[in-house]
Amino acid sequence: MDTPNRSIECTVDQCRYHCSDCDYCSLNTVRIGTHEMNPTEKQCVDCRSFEVKY
Ligand code: SF4
Repeated sequence: MDTPNRSIECTVDQCRYHCSDCDYCSLNTVRIGTHEMNPTEKQCVDCRSFEVKY
């Protein structure tokens, strides 16, 4: 049973750290980053703690 971290809302159901029954992350902290040299839009920013659910 995942314990939701109510400080980290997340809707990425494909991530192994996503709570199975609610839209929260189960990690204590997450790292946010970017894959762009000069991020200017939401789409430029990523959760670097993401790992795909198997
Ligand atoms: S690690 Fe990132 S992508 Fe995965 S559930 Fe947590 S906040 Fe969402």
